[in-house]
Amino acid sequence: MNSDCLFCKIIDGKIPADIVHEDDQVLAFKDISPQAPFHSLIIPKIHINTINNLDTSHQTLLGHILLTAKKIAVDNGLSEPGYRLIMNCNEDGGQTVFHIHIHILGGRPLIGFG
Ligand code: AMP
Ligand code: ZN
Repeated sequence: MNSDCLFCKIIDGKIPADIVHEDDQVLAFKDISPQAPFHSLIIPKIHINTINNLDTSHQTLLGHILLTAKKIAVDNGLSEPGYRLIMNCNEDGGQTVFHIHIHILGGRPLIGFG
């Protein structure tokens, strides 16, 4: 837990979020500024700043995050039309919240990057 971190505050219930999935390891909620008809974020419940801070101790957690992304996609009817998962790292990667997260985007054609 990092008391200065926006997403830790969401996990703690100090900032409201539109939650789409929660279990003992992860929380998923709607992005406040959606870039597609469906746009949610999955975060681990432990604070990790960036992808650069990951190591082998996080392997099981990372697998769980990815499988949760797939479940959320299925539950929201995205699996057949398709969807996009994005992780941004540091400034050039476009990361603005420094608690790792996967974006799940879908509900419209997503062509190209940027
Ligand atoms: P990134 O740019 O990859 O770090 O993504 C951070 C995402 O967090 C952005 O898409 C923001 O719209 C989203 N975001 C910021 N504040 C909130 C919030 N309070 N609740 C939900 N999503 C948020
Ligand atoms: Zn955090």
